[in-house]
Amino acid sequence: MWDFSFMIPSALMLVTLLGFYFSRPRLPVRANRTFVVMLLAELLVMASDIVSTMIDENFTQYPVGVVYAANILYFVLYLTRIYWYYRFALQTVSAGVGSRVFAEHILELPYVLIIALCISSPLTGAFFSVGPQGYVRGPFYDMLYVAAAFYIFVSLVFTIGYAKSLRRADITGLVGYNVVLIVGNVIRFAFPKVLVMDTFCTIAIMVIFLGFTNPELFLFEQGYAFNGHALRVLLGERIITEDYYVLGIALQNYNHERGLLGGANMDAAIFEINRWLMDAYPDCVTFYLGVGRFAVVGRQNTNWRQVAEHLRDRFDHPWSVPSAEVVLHAGLVSASVDSGLKTADELANMLIIALETAQQDAGLAAGTTTETLSLKEVDQQVGVLRALERAIEKREVEVFLQPVYQSSTHRMVAAEALARIRDEDGRIISPALFIPVAERTGYINQLGEQVLEKACEFYATHDGVAMGLEWINVNISPIQCLQQDLTERMLGILGRYGIPVDRIHLEVTEQSIVDYALLQRQLMALRDAGFEFSLDDYGSGYSNLTRVREYPFANIKLDMSVVWDYFNERDNLLPAVVRGFRDTGYTITAEGIENEEMAQALVEIGSDYLQGYYFSKPLDLDAFRREYGAAA
Ligand code: C2E
Ligand code: MG
Ligand code: MG
Repeated sequence: MWDFSFMIPSALMLVTLLGFYFSRPRLPVRANRTFVVMLLAELLVMASDIVSTMIDENFTQYPVGVVYAANILYFVLYLTRIYWYYRFALQTVSAGVGSRVFAEHILELPYVLIIALCISSPLTGAFFSVGPQGYVRGPFYDMLYVAAAFYIFVSLVFTIGYAKSLRRADITGLVGYNVVLIVGNVIRFAFPKVLVMDTFCTIAIMVIFLGFTNPELFLFEQGYAFNGHALRVLLGERIITEDYYVLGIALQNYNHERGLLGGANMDAAIFEINRWLMDAYPDCVTFYLGVGRFAVVGRQNTNWRQVAEHLRDRFDHPWSVPSAEVVLHAGLVSASVDSGLKTADELANMLIIALETAQQDAGLAAGTTTETLSLKEVDQQVGVLRALERAIEKREVEVFLQPVYQSSTHRMVAAEALARIRDEDGRIISPALFIPVAERTGYINQLGEQVLEKACEFYATHDGVAMGLEWINVNISPIQCLQQDLTERMLGILGRYGIPVDRIHLEVTEQSIVDYALLQRQLMALRDAGFEFSLDDYGSGYSNLTRVREYPFANIKLDMSVVWDYFNERDNLLPAVVRGFRDTGYTITAEGIENEEMAQALVEIGSDYLQGYYFSKPLDLDAFRREYGAAA
């Protein structure tokens, strides 16, 4: 007599999983559908196992056709279960790789052949036959093990073969459930009387659930919206079918409004927006990626222009939250198949960068933009990011020097160190492109240190003093000032090259994003350590005059745009500003001097120092040495 008693807990566990699974929002992806098929297949295998065994035991009471049918059904379901475990692996690997993996259809063939063999049993006795003693195994019965071994083997080969493109968690999950299946098959083969296969299959399904299909993995904290992981999984599938369109929405005044309204109210607004998006675009899938960023993914053939218009109209109106109404401005970004991105990760990363850009570009302009920023435009930034990573890792950040002339003596007294990196073909990438990326990714810290180090090395080894360089100007980003140990690190670099601290002047641009108090504290600490400061790009932003006084600046660098404006249309403002600064003890540097007239005009209004192409473009270190070195 067979003992089925332990099948019951397995079945109960599966039913519980199924119930939980259907109680939560489910992401419409193949992996999830496959999972439901596997769960149902498992339950059916169990049921048909019990039924066929009972019929086999009392075979005399049934017509022989029924005995055959019951056993065939069991074997077909059993083989189908094996096959779907493999299908799950195949789909996961394909989604990770971003294309269908090798020979998908050829690998269906063994499954079809074995099923055919099984169904032929009444005629051939291949898997089993029903004789006077009832059910007897046939010569091909062990094909059950061969099929299992084959598909597990192929699953593992794909997993390992494509490991580089897969997430670690996916590899662990895939290897994990296949190992469970191996153990189950070995035990079934060695001890056929112990009915543990279903228990092991249940464990395998648990592994899949925990690693891949648990709805909680796909939900944002509060549980109502799909999260970034869900987005990657969905894109992983859509990239293969080449039918997707992604619309990203970035709330531009998110941080500002969160500060005003408080977190709870803002969360309520996010909830409302998410629900609105889900209702408005039922054929699409909506995701919330945190910090005021949404993504809507749909099919290529939707009228996306219209969707963007529709969105803009809605965002012109306020969202109501428990204690207020709030108008949120949205920046839109879009991506579709033709963006040329190959993997879901690449696409998702680009989308995040694009959303960040859309959120930051908001500047002072209010209102929702209909113009979507296409990922293609952002694609450039990915190239920049790769170049930046490479340059930092290989210490290939280059330093160019641009002379700074003293107005009174007409001589070079200093030089500004300007960072350069190169793309794959060795072409220089402009700092206007890579500095913002470096700031956003945190690479700015390492970049800044390399520039400082290379400037110090140059100054020490080529005798900067003999060249006429009284100091070198080095730019530091306010982001660098978030490092608590900034002063020690910078002093450490100077110390290594024996550079006195007054030989390095630091240029800082005022930016809105940083914590003013912290910036001020850090600059004071650097000043106390002996560094001197310039306020860079004065007049390009919205420099706050009282704040300028709170920082330890000794020099003001007029931005090129201010210099050019004055030169094009002289008025009294700039001279008055310059006079004001000088009267308060600051020195003035004018940037962007491109010809003699500009130099004269700026000297007349009181610039102490001049910098610009008229004197010299930024030069690489060799060129600078050739031009200004002692031998020159
Ligand atoms: P910046 O500090 O204001 O540097 C001056 C920029 O103006 C340089 O551009 C320089 O090449 C350019 N320039 C100088 N004279 C003239 C001129 O006569 N005409 C014109 N059209 N341009 C002139 P560059 O090197 O592209 O740097 C752009 C910005 O990138 C810099 O502006 C600075 O804010 C940032 N940057 C560069 N290197 C570093 C660095 O090592 N660290 C940080 N944090 N920022 C850097
Ligand atoms: Mg500068
Ligand atoms: Mg400047």
